[in-house]
Amino acid sequence: MTLSSSTFANELKVYNSISGTKESFVPLKEGYVGMYVCGPTVYSNVHLGNCRTFISFDIIFRYLMHLGFKVRYVRNITDAGHLENDADEGEDKIAKKAKIEELEPMEIVQKYTVDFHQTLNQFNVLAPSIEPTATGHIIEQIEIIKSIIDKGYAYEKNGSVYFDVIAFNASHDYGKLSGRNIDDMRSETRTLSAQDEKKNPQDFALWKKASSKHIMRWPSPWGDGFPGWHIECTAMSSKYLGDQFDIHGGGMDLKFPHHECEIAQAEAHTDKTPVKYWLHANMLTLNGKKMSKSTDNNIYPFEIFSGENSILSKVYTPAVVRFFMLQAHYTSILDLSDNALAAAEKGYQRLSEALELLNTLPSSTNSTVNVEQWVSDCYAAMNDDFNTPMLIAKLFEACKFIQGIEEGKESISSEDLNLLQNKIQEFTTDVLGVQFESSKASQENTALISPLVEMLLEERNLARDNKDYQKSDEIRDKLKQLGIEIKDSKEGTSFSFN
Ligand code: AMP
Ligand code: ZN
Repeated sequence: MTLSSSTFANELKVYNSISGTKESFVPLKEGYVGMYVCGPTVYSNVHLGNCRTFISFDIIFRYLMHLGFKVRYVRNITDAGHLENDADEGEDKIAKKAKIEELEPMEIVQKYTVDFHQTLNQFNVLAPSIEPTATGHIIEQIEIIKSIIDKGYAYEKNGSVYFDVIAFNASHDYGKLSGRNIDDMRSETRTLSAQDEKKNPQDFALWKKASSKHIMRWPSPWGDGFPGWHIECTAMSSKYLGDQFDIHGGGMDLKFPHHECEIAQAEAHTDKTPVKYWLHANMLTLNGKKMSKSTDNNIYPFEIFSGENSILSKVYTPAVVRFFMLQAHYTSILDLSDNALAAAEKGYQRLSEALELLNTLPSSTNSTVNVEQWVSDCYAAMNDDFNTPMLIAKLFEACKFIQGIEEGKESISSEDLNLLQNKIQEFTTDVLGVQFESSKASQENTALISPLVEMLLEERNLARDNKDYQKSDEIRDKLKQLGIEIKDSKEGTSFSFN
C-alpha cells in the first residue's frame, strides 16, 4: 500500500454549490488548480467571522497543495466600488470611512489591508499566490464592460452602465447559482433612485457615474465614474486564472447577488462557463446571529487574544481559535461562545500532550495498531469535502493509541511509528495549519503573561496621565521588542501577541 499524499488526489470530492451535490474533483488541467476567493472590503478591521471564511479557504488551499496540486490562489482586496447596501446605491464603504476618520480613501485601504494581513498571519493563514486590488484593475474592468455592451447585454444610461438581466436571461440562466427566479428578484428589489435609470429592476450596475462629491473616480468611455462591485472579481479572476478556472470561493452571503452577477458578466463576456466548482463557506455566528460589521454583533480577533471583551471569560490564543473553527465543517454554521472555545482549548491541550508523547514512544518488533488504515481514514476524511472535524476525530483516535503504547497496552513497529509521526506532522502542521508543539507551555505562559502586561499598561497609563511620555513610550517599545503590540483607541488600550 502506498501512502504518499498524491495517491489520494483522485479521491477528492467537493460540494459544488451550483449543482448542490458532492462531485469528484477533476481540475481543468491535470495537476494544476486555479482558485479565486473574494477578499475583504478594507474599510474596517476584520472581525472573527471574516477570518473564518479565510481560514476555511486556507484549509482548502493547504490540502490541495498537500495532495500535490500546483495551486494558483488569487484572493483580491476590494478597495473601491463596494457600496453601503451591497447593491447600486449609497456611498462607497471606503470613501465613507475616509470621511469619518478624516483620512484619504487610500489611507483607509492601507490601514485595514495591513490589519487584515497581520490578523491572518496570527491565525497562520498562508498568503495567496496573487492578491490583486480592484483599483489596480480599472482598465481590465472597463474592457470587459465594453465587451458586454457590444454583445448586447448591457446599456449605458446617464454615464452609468447597467447589465441587462432580462436580455441575458433570454439565452442564459440568470439565477442558476442562487436558485432564485427572476420574478422573485423583481419583488425583492428596493426602490432606489438609480432604479429610474434601469430598464428593469433586476439590472445591476457595471459602472456608476461619479457625482461631483464622489472622490474615488476614474475616466471611462462613459465619463468619470467607478466600477460596480461585481465586475472587479470577474476582471481579476479572468486576468490571472483565465476565462475558465477550477474553484471560486467566498462566504455563503456572497452567493447572491455577488457571485450570481459574476457568472452572468463572465458568460456575457466570453460565452463560457467561468467556474467549475463553486465553494461557499458558512457563517460564524455570535448569539445565534451572523457576525457582521454593519450590525454590532461581532468580536475582533485582538479582543480575544487580549481578553479586552465582555463576551469571553478569558484569553484564547490564535491557535486555539483556529482549532475551534476547524472542529466544524466549513459548510456548517458555527456559533462562537465561551463554552465552545473552552472545550476547543481542552481538546487542543489533549492533542498537544499526546503529540509531545509521540516523540518519546518506544517501538517494538510488531504493531497492534493499524497505522496504515488510520492514514487512509485521515485522507478519506479530508477527501470528503475537506472534512476537518472528521480529521480531528481521527487525531483524537491517534491520541488514544499513543496513550495505549505509552502505557504498554499497545505496541508499534519502528516503521509504523515513523509513519505515524510523519503523517501527524503533515496533517497538523501542513494541512490544518495548527502548531501543537509545546503548546501547553505557551497556554500557561499566555495565562501568566496577560495579567503582567495589564499591570505594565496601568503603569503606562499613569505615566501618560503625568505627561511622562518618555516612560510611556519606553514601556510600549520594550513590549514591542518582546512581540507584544499595544493598540490605543477611544475605548482604551489593548494588546496582542505578534
Ligand atoms: P467583506 O469584507 O464584508 O466583503 O467580507 C469578507 C468575507 O467575509 C466574505 O467572503 C464574506 O462572505 C465573509 N463573511 C462576512 N461575515 C461573515 C461571517 N459572519 N462568518 C463567516 N464569513 C463571513
Ligand atoms: Zn468577489
